[in-house]
Amino acid sequence: MKKCEKGEMIEVDNIISEIDGYVFIEKGVRCSSCGEEFINEKDAQKTIENAKKLGIWPEPFKMHRSLSKSGRGLVLRIPSDIEKDLKLKPGESVAISKVGNKLIIEPEE
Ligand SMILES: [Zn+2]
Repeated sequence: MKKCEKGEMIEVDNIISEIDGYVFIEKGVRCSSCGEEFINEKDAQKTIENAKKLGIWPEPFKMHRSLSKSGRGLVLRIPSDIEKDLKLKPGESVAISKVGNKLIIEPEE
């Protein structure tokens, strides 16, 4: 099990993932210190399957990009098709959520 250096990982059954307005509740663990959540692999997989059934899992947009290093972090270049489709602009803030081993990036209004 993954753990955080500061807090204890407490088992919870109320981790919320929101995909395209749909809310999924999953089991997993949450850090008592920073609140970081790790969804059980099985539950994460279930969410992905349900999202696919609902047609909200962004599979049709799947593109391959590599991450580049910048300072202490990694930089992801957003493909221009997606940039145009979602009308993204430089400086815009996005929310990043982790579902299992996947990342969901949502523009914030
Ligand atoms: Zn923590």
